[in-house]
Amino acid sequence: MIIVLKPNSTVEQIDHIVTTIHEMGLKTDVSRGIKRTIIGVIGEEDLLRNAPLQAIPGVEEVVPILKPYKLASREYQPDDSVIDVGRGVKVGGGSLAMIAGPCAIEGREILLEIAKHVKAAGANILRGGAYKPRTSPYSFQGLGEDGLKILREVGDELEMPVVTEVMDPRQVALVDRYTDIFQIGARNMQNFNLLAEVGQTKRPVLLKRGMSATVVDLLMSAEYILAGGNKRVILCERGIRSFDSSTRNLLDLSIVPSAKGLSHLPLIVDPSHATGRPDLIPSMSLAAVAAGADGVHIEVHSCPERAMSDGPQALLPKQYAEVVEQMRQVAGLFHKTIPVAHGK
Ligand code: PEP
Ligand code: MN
Repeated sequence: MIIVLKPNSTVEQIDHIVTTIHEMGLKTDVSRGIKRTIIGVIGEEDLLRNAPLQAIPGVEEVVPILKPYKLASREYQPDDSVIDVGRGVKVGGGSLAMIAGPCAIEGREILLEIAKHVKAAGANILRGGAYKPRTSPYSFQGLGEDGLKILREVGDELEMPVVTEVMDPRQVALVDRYTDIFQIGARNMQNFNLLAEVGQTKRPVLLKRGMSATVVDLLMSAEYILAGGNKRVILCERGIRSFDSSTRNLLDLSIVPSAKGLSHLPLIVDPSHATGRPDLIPSMSLAAVAAGADGVHIEVHSCPERAMSDGPQALLPKQYAEVVEQMRQVAGLFHKTIPVAHGK
């Protein structure tokens, strides 16, 4: 539910309304506008249905949200969310996230080399996995905390915010010490305990679409994070499973306008995991921006044939620089900008 308060309500009236709603066993989220205050009310459906919200003095209108996701919906928040991820980089509302880096953190030197290249090309967020969700238990599983330390050091040296995957609720506190943004991978999109755990933190979360998740499933997963009090969720399309093995997954670009119509959350596209093919990544990146995406997530490696994971889909730094150059032109047509990462 959204409750709209009478114009010019005083702080005392708003406090009274909030306390009354809490006494009903419901949670509130207050947005104070210049003229009006709006309170989002969330809680168990039955409780919500029977709560006499209209009867509270000062309430002008009670508007139900019919979608199963509430805080994530456009009804709840008509304006686009803009997520500040640090170092001057904002995602959404016309600012594009240019996330780039290797699939896995393999060592300090190689990460620094790749990071320097991608930053020079225009990337504003550095990625790298320290905990890798591999299909085979015999594949490289990531450097763990040593990898997180390297990522943090390189991010600080180049003054770039960093993003890395967290796979387990028990890792959240540890990863939180090193990263600027949590990544929830496709395989964990419906790990509800993990979603609830990152929802308790204040860090932005890059939530990747599960490989057979619908747009509503994705928004329901975002809702878990938002309901915990963490409002900084960035959605990510990374391809879904299909019958056609000519690409690694099937990039569903229609989700960009579709999810952005339903939700105020920013959405970025990962053409690397979606296609698995360096020859398709440039055109799909441009198409993503034209479709309204708030950025792209691209794997880059200076020596793909030696990469410890996802080498075949990595772009070379030079190829990445070309994509960014073309993206700037497409972004300009849509009045979008690529913010530069810099120190405070
Ligand atoms: C990754 O970003 O390296 C990754 C494993 O992505 P996904 O969860 O989309 O497969
Ligand atoms: Mn990868």
